[in-house]
Amino acid sequence: MSSTAQLLDGKALANSLQTELMQQVQVLQVHMGRPPGLAVLMVGDNPASAAYVRNKERACANVGIASFGQHFPATATQVELEQAIATLNRDDRVDGILVQLPLPDHLDAVALLNQIEPSKDADGLHPVNLGRLVRGEPGLRSCTPAGVMRLLEAYKVNLKGQQAVVIGRSILVGKPQALMLLEADATVTIAHSRTPDLGAIARTADVLVVAVGRPALITAEMVKPGAIVVDVGMNRVTDATGKARLVGDVDFASVQPIAKMITPVPGGIGPMTVAMLLQNTVLSYRER
Ligand code: NAP
Repeated sequence: MSSTAQLLDGKALANSLQTELMQQVQVLQVHMGRPPGLAVLMVGDNPASAAYVRNKERACANVGIASFGQHFPATATQVELEQAIATLNRDDRVDGILVQLPLPDHLDAVALLNQIEPSKDADGLHPVNLGRLVRGEPGLRSCTPAGVMRLLEAYKVNLKGQQAVVIGRSILVGKPQALMLLEADATVTIAHSRTPDLGAIARTADVLVVAVGRPALITAEMVKPGAIVVDVGMNRVTDATGKARLVGDVDFASVQPIAKMITPVPGGIGPMTVAMLLQNTVLSYRER
């Protein structure tokens, strides 16, 4: 057993994927006569969401994807957003549409996501694309779990017949993650807030994917020695000196010495999620 886990470097892989996408876009643009386009819709002034949107638009600029983002005030109505989505659905310059979550409480996020034309559903959250995932058909895949799969593939992690445990069952991460692991022939268990003895379930995992949103939920005694640990969690915490920083759901310091491979936070799944968003946009562009 190694004394410290190998880092699954999502940032480095995401950078190289962006370079590949940029090269593809340069070639495709000659035939298409326009660049790919992505519209990120943001509502309100949540600072974390604003940072994610800036990040996505910067990544788009890096690979040559045109941004058609719109920023609505926190008071925007459901009808205004539905109209914006309908306009983007018809706009031939736009290949991907994404609604930055979470939305203010008065808005119905699911109803809005369902309005997005499935072929422009860059986040892969429309029921048509989730249904395709359930059926094992090609389609736009949810970015975060797709990013996890791409990272595991890059590090040649064998999933066939392996015991995978996904902690979290959200429609954004946990559920599609479990389906993707199943598609890769892992034996999958999904745990959640009602799972008694989370540690006992987590310890069965050869591959443990944690997507909960609780700092240090997973400690060393909950991890099988030699496991591959993927930390999707992104939590802003304030340390003893009053400085804000980003941490995952896994207690990195205690788990790294016993795991075989582990993702850092930041620098793990966050950049992979953005890379998969760009990849989905280029895929829609190519198919249109
Ligand atoms: P979510 O919708 O709040 O879902 C959290 C899930 O965790 C739920 O299924 C919940 O169970 C489960 N859970 C809560 N407390 C638990 C506990 N004590 N033990 C076991 N399970 C528990 O969150 P999400 O959208 O999936 O996001 C999860 C985390 O990933 C967040 O930190 C988020 O910021 C991060 N995230 C990161 C990226 C990225 O790009 N890296 C992308 C998306 C999300 P119930 O279903 O029973 O309530």
